[in-house]
Amino acid sequence: MTATVNRNAGDLVIALSKGRILEDALPLMTRIGIEPLDDPAKSRKLVLDTSREDVKLLVIRATDVPTYVEYGAADLGVAGKDVLMEYEGHDYYEPLDLGIARCRLMVAGLPGQDFSRRRPRIATKYARTARDYFESLGMQAEIIKLYGSMELAPLVGLADRIVDLVDTGNTLKANGLVAMETICEISSRLIVNKAAMKTKHARVSEIIGALREVVEQPA
Ligand code: AMP
Repeated sequence: MTATVNRNAGDLVIALSKGRILEDALPLMTRIGIEPLDDPAKSRKLVLDTSREDVKLLVIRATDVPTYVEYGAADLGVAGKDVLMEYEGHDYYEPLDLGIARCRLMVAGLPGQDFSRRRPRIATKYARTARDYFESLGMQAEIIKLYGSMELAPLVGLADRIVDLVDTGNTLKANGLVAMETICEISSRLIVNKAAMKTKHARVSEIIGALREVVEQPA
């Protein structure tokens, strides 16, 4: 059987990050008149049709969103600032802070644990951002790249500290960790492929404008 992709060259493709960001991004999309026809939480489709015939949604891993947008596989994308700071390339526009999925990128660890060793070990998914942060403090940290459950690392002696996203602080608390320093405030951003900004200018700028209006007037 031939796989069919429900996508035409003239479509406007928007890549959304799975998970927390999706929960906050879908209501914004609805408010600008773009609603997926299938429930993204249930559908197995990778390209979702929407209430606007010319607009398709991709629901993908957060870390893949900037890649899809940079290479033009998606015209627009919604991704967390944490993911964008960590992404190596930066060849896309970032016209709008959507103000959703807000949290903080923080340094955390066990209370009272010594941090005086010359080369502290930092476990994180955000290797690049963490390295830059500790360098800015004049510290040569050893960065240990993990892909999840960072909170475990200090508990089992894998690292002295972690760098992770903190929202309510409940995950840290549940594991006996405390937040120590804020690296930066995080929210989700709209990003745009550079070529699409030219070739699909009217529709892309209409979406940026509509989202800007919605973001400036909370529901
Ligand atoms: P919390 O317990 O509310 O502080 O949430 C912390 C957990 O949720 C950590 O595992 C974080 O990586 C994750 N998290 C918190 N906020 C976000 C966000 N805006 N986007 C993605 N993951 C998040």
